Amino acid sequence: MAFDIDMIKGVYANMAERVDKAREIVGKPLTLSEKILYAHLWDGTPTKAFVRGKDYVDFAPDRIACQDATAQMALLQFMQAGKPKVAVPTTVHCDHLIQAKSGAAADLKSANSTSAEVFDFLESVSNKYGIGFWKPGAGIIHQVVLENYAFPGGMMIGTDSHTVNAGGLGMVAIGVGGADAVDVMAGMAWELKFPKLIGVRLTGKISGWTAPKDVILKVAEILTVKGGTGAIVEYFGPGAIALSCTGKGTICNMGAEIGATTSTFGYDESMERYLRATDRSDVADAANEVKEYLTADEEVYANPEQYFDQVIDIDLSTLNPLLNGPFTPDLSTPVGKEMTEKATKNDWPMQVEWGLIGSCTNSSYEDLSRASSIAQQALDKKLKTKAEFGINPGSEQVRYTAERDGILGIFEKLDAKIFTNACGPCIGQWARYSDPKNAPKNSIVHSFNRNFAKRADGNPNTHAFVASPEITAAIAIAGRLDFNPMTDTLINEDGVEVRFEEPTGWELPPKGFEVEDAGYLAPREDGSSVKVVVDPNSERLQLLEPFEPIKNEELQDVKLLIKAYGKCTTDHISMAGPWLRFRGHLDNIANNTLIGAVNAFNQKTNLVKNQLTGEYEGVPDTQRAYKAKGIKSIVVGDHNYGEGSSREHAAMQPRHLGVAAVLVKSFARIHETNLKKQGMLALTFANEKDYDLIKEDDTFNFVDIAEFAPDTPLTIEVVHADGSKDTIKANHTYNDAQIGWFREGSALNVIKRQNAS
Ligand code: SF4
Repeated sequence: MAFDIDMIKGVYANMAERVDKAREIVGKPLTLSEKILYAHLWDGTPTKAFVRGKDYVDFAPDRIACQDATAQMALLQFMQAGKPKVAVPTTVHCDHLIQAKSGAAADLKSANSTSAEVFDFLESVSNKYGIGFWKPGAGIIHQVVLENYAFPGGMMIGTDSHTVNAGGLGMVAIGVGGADAVDVMAGMAWELKFPKLIGVRLTGKISGWTAPKDVILKVAEILTVKGGTGAIVEYFGPGAIALSCTGKGTICNMGAEIGATTSTFGYDESMERYLRATDRSDVADAANEVKEYLTADEEVYANPEQYFDQVIDIDLSTLNPLLNGPFTPDLSTPVGKEMTEKATKNDWPMQVEWGLIGSCTNSSYEDLSRASSIAQQALDKKLKTKAEFGINPGSEQVRYTAERDGILGIFEKLDAKIFTNACGPCIGQWARYSDPKNAPKNSIVHSFNRNFAKRADGNPNTHAFVASPEITAAIAIAGRLDFNPMTDTLINEDGVEVRFEEPTGWELPPKGFEVEDAGYLAPREDGSSVKVVVDPNSERLQLLEPFEPIKNEELQDVKLLIKAYGKCTTDHISMAGPWLRFRGHLDNIANNTLIGAVNAFNQKTNLVKNQLTGEYEGVPDTQRAYKAKGIKSIVVGDHNYGEGSSREHAAMQPRHLGVAAVLVKSFARIHETNLKKQGMLALTFANEKDYDLIKEDDTFNFVDIAEFAPDTPLTIEVVHADGSKDTIKANHTYNDAQIGWFREGSALNVIKRQNAS
């Protein structure tokens, strides 16, 4: 059904030659991360050593995974590439668009009705282009990937930041924007800056109440939310080997919360056990044959300081359970007394109202079984649960097996709500309140990964704390944020003082995994006759039209749309929140274009001067007025323009509305590339001070656009309202191929032409 053993064997067949060559070229022993990276070069066998944190390198990933919210625009773009099938094994997972409200059955029914057209679209595109499709309710993308597709030594990309979860099975798995995924689906290389490497040495052994989750909560405390930026985190040491495979997945999953490119572990017996338990003995057998290539060279872990850019030591024997939050995942507090002090001092509500277990971070069989051992104790010891419980199993396979083994039944006896096998409360799809903006201040504890304001329930006053599933269960039962199950007692229904024993559980189900319908739909071998139907009146989906090239003559008399002041992230350019529902409809989502950007001339958002009328209007309205007259426009910005997510909407929307160029002091690199891919001009001021020359009524003439060439700045004449002019230089980083994207209208147009010829 799922994985492709021949593809995996193909990766392993090349591994020895490529890794041995890389070791020779680099001139020293290799980390696991380097082995996987050098084994996946687009050009095959390595010919040069790359500088970490500096060189951009073309890679050839083995797989792609997309979730339903991001897959819409990715697949709409792929449909334009003119390819009959995806070039690399790809799957689509319906998990984000399912609300948690009443419980799995009713919620799934409701999602299947409200998002029917999106699910139908994703299913038919998948069927047509050879993409595996996981239906709504089949599970959360990263748990399903770990159970079915991840393999030691592999490289995958996914259109979701927690794609990194697959590091638990020894992959280099990285979250990307849809445009990157489309390139790889269409058979192109994927570019990444060769990452720096952080080694985390785990000594000692986890025991008692401490869980793998506490390892990453500790790492987040040490590195903070930015500490992993541009780096792969590689875990090793005796403590690492002793962790379960799904526990490793939890640790890698939350690598996204420290900004890491990804995280990974070397192949070991826990991974072999997991592969065999999930019906992939052939993958385990193949991995065993190339074992030495699926972990670092011996010298590396013996002297990590010589081979990693940074090394962190954690002794698992002394690690205690942690609660991270509220509002940021790197604010750690050990459970118990310290929380009493901190919560009191900061006015965090001490009473806990909900305990949520699940999400892609902690929804394995092991997680559910350990948390249920605490729930069972509550029943046995006649404890009344103070907070409400919500459970999101990670996959139908986990859910079915956990139900069979009585695990979910234990939670149900505590009146827990078993939500759909989907993201639900982890992505704000939790119908907890009718009016979340005005909901009361409260605390919740969950075993998810993110706890930013409003993330779970849309309520800015919800204080969300992240913990392991077993600690979440204990705190939810006690109903107090500062409850320490290792030392504190509770009074039961009979008035007797009782204490929890340590949690127990199973790494893997003793009777094996079982499932009736995993929720997978294989694509047709030949999908050429499959029709992809999109209702022209749909407000959520819109087929894309290829962008017309921007002609040289259109780059004269270009109007200023907005001069953005200060920070302008992809959220400012294309807001999320309520706009998420339009992610598959370019024209509708374009109505949020740049509405979060601050206009440098009045310090207001979404209020710019329409040069045609002299009136102040919203940015999208002004731009649509220019578009109606066939007038191109330019956006001017400050430093690091387009930072944040890699969402391609932030480039596609301005392009769709007729913005021709973005001229800034500096770009976030991914956004700069996205603008280039959509056939726009991404330019930087040669002299930063020229930003100050730009006035509200300016028009721009690209005087030498006909000579657009690599390594040659462009000249722009800025014409002010009084007729005076300034001539400025704009730098760019376009190579010949990228200038081709501009000349032909987009990178996709180029791919399409190449496929046709
Ligand atoms: Fe993202 Fe949460 Fe879904 Fe995981 S469960 S994929 S973190 S929304």
